[in-house]
Amino acid sequence: MIAPKTLKLSLKSLRDFAKKKLPDETLIELDERDECPIEIVRHMCDPDKLGIQLLLVPEEYGGMGGGAFDIYLVCEEMAHIDLGLATSVFATFLGSDPITVGATPEQKKLWLGRIAEEGILFAYGATEPEAGSDLGALRTTADRVMQDGRIVGYKINGNKQWISNGGIADAYSVLANTPAGPSWFVVERGVKGFTHDEPEDKHGIRLSNTAALAFNDVFVDADRLIGGVEGQGLTQAQAVFGYTRVMVAAFGLGAGWSALDRAVPYSTKRIQAGGPLSEKQGYTHKLIVPHVIHLEAARAYIEETAERIDAGNEGSLNTEGAIAKYMATEAGNAAAEASIQALGGYGYTHEYMVEKISRDVRITVIYEGTSEIMEMTISRDRWQLHLKTRGQYYHDEARKCETLHKSHPNVGADAAALALHALAEVMEKARIGRLTRHQHILLRLGEWIAYAECAGSLSRRAALMAESKLSEKSSRRFDATALAAMARVFAREAAFKVAEEGFRIVTGAGGVVESEMPSFEATLALPAIHRAQAGLISDMDEIADALYNRKTKEEQKAA
Ligand SMILES: Cc1cc2nc3c(=O)[nH]c(=O)nc-3n(C[C@H](O)[C@H](O)[C@H](O)COP(=O)(O)OP(=O)(O)OC[C@H]3O[C@@H](n4cnc5c(N)ncnc54)[C@H](O)[C@@H]3O)c2cc1C
Repeated sequence: MIAPKTLKLSLKSLRDFAKKKLPDETLIELDERDECPIEIVRHMCDPDKLGIQLLLVPEEYGGMGGGAFDIYLVCEEMAHIDLGLATSVFATFLGSDPITVGATPEQKKLWLGRIAEEGILFAYGATEPEAGSDLGALRTTADRVMQDGRIVGYKINGNKQWISNGGIADAYSVLANTPAGPSWFVVERGVKGFTHDEPEDKHGIRLSNTAALAFNDVFVDADRLIGGVEGQGLTQAQAVFGYTRVMVAAFGLGAGWSALDRAVPYSTKRIQAGGPLSEKQGYTHKLIVPHVIHLEAARAYIEETAERIDAGNEGSLNTEGAIAKYMATEAGNAAAEASIQALGGYGYTHEYMVEKISRDVRITVIYEGTSEIMEMTISRDRWQLHLKTRGQYYHDEARKCETLHKSHPNVGADAAALALHALAEVMEKARIGRLTRHQHILLRLGEWIAYAECAGSLSRRAALMAESKLSEKSSRRFDATALAAMARVFAREAAFKVAEEGFRIVTGAGGVVESEMPSFEATLALPAIHRAQAGLISDMDEIADALYNRKTKEEQKAA
């Protein structure tokens, strides 16, 4: 873990560098020219210059040994600057992840050492033309090359598609089928038979180089097989999902805030109908406030997950990583889209940046597992917990929120509990009616689970903040009062969503018949969830006041 002061300094150097070298005009020009600024990427990775790589390489290999929490903060900062550049820099970490988790000590020393000392760029080569979400359909092969009865190397044949840094990396982690199954190999730039295509002409992240790779009888020595044992590739890829999904979650957060950080000041200066847009509730409560709340709910979940990964005793937390990624990247996309609307016609032009951010952030719901794959991952995992606990898993989580509500009645934990109880009931109805045979229901459950868990998480963060117990590195964009108001609004939304949509879809799939509907409504506690919406608008007013640094109604009265 990096000391808070050191991390703060690194983040500040990054911000200062961006201010000097990457003003909006430069980013817009590069985006229009569809150009990856390779010298800037190299500068960011050079150990003698910005050396962002160093933050994330373990100390024993010459880095600073940053943990998941450090990585989340650096990724958010990078994405706030530019998501294409963030993708370029972090492709190296993605590319080196199979090495970090699965390589032999010699391989780690060589490759992680080179990343730290020379700032070499890596790429992560998993996706193929026929194998995207389903990596099991992998076609690239790595055939053993034998000499005197022992394996001396492998011949790699196949194609990889949409590889970040594909045209500029110095080394590539490549997933290929060996006789014993999928395995990772390190392939260096320039080896015979290995070529890459021209960069893709993309919708967004145009500052990032994305290219297809081709392997025609590419020979690599046996020591390029990561870990030295065939067939470990998918396990090695799985082992870092919690961590890498937190990285991409932070991308969604950074890009979403980058858009809102433009829309909010704009709305204070744009005068329409006699006053600034920021004073118009119909504007703030549709285009700004809900997105702030969703981003901060996702942040609460990211921070909890990163802390748990860093504590190191709960495995790789893949499902939590999936929830963090799903919520933060969906929130980032919605925030960027709303920011275009918030800037009206200006938002639709290149010059004001929000349309670029909106194009850029779109990738975060596609790469590192699409949103639909996240929904499936979340749902399948939590479904098992529901079955194992005989339907009690989310009732237990709800009871924890009820306990929290007793000590902290202002952080929305009561509504979070309603969301979690309703979730348990929807899952139980789905079990009884065998409704998850409908894939649509399985995936919708994934969404409701993510909302309900995030509601609990935001309530806990608001309570910790009220007690001044948040970790030193935690974000402090808002004070405890504003965070508590956000927790209340989000928990109400989660409860309403889970219960109302759950009722609709379970009923729609024939999970309840007419005569059972009143009792199903009662088990979902629909009347209580409706009553819990009281106070919603004044909480949103309070959040808008905090966002725009205005006096609240109470403060105005007192003054
Ligand atoms: C700019 C960019 C950079 C990238 N960088 C990298 C990189 O560095 N390394 C790398 O290995 N890959 C990279 N990728 C690839 C990326 O990870 C894949 O695009 C992604 O995993 C989705 O795969 P796919 O595009 O084949 O879509 P598909 O898997 O074909 O999915 C298409 C749609 O169908 C949905 N879908 C898929 N399966 C199911 C299912 N079972 N049930 C229901 N719905 C389903 C998906 O959610 C999606 O909406 C990059 C892609 C892009 C565009």
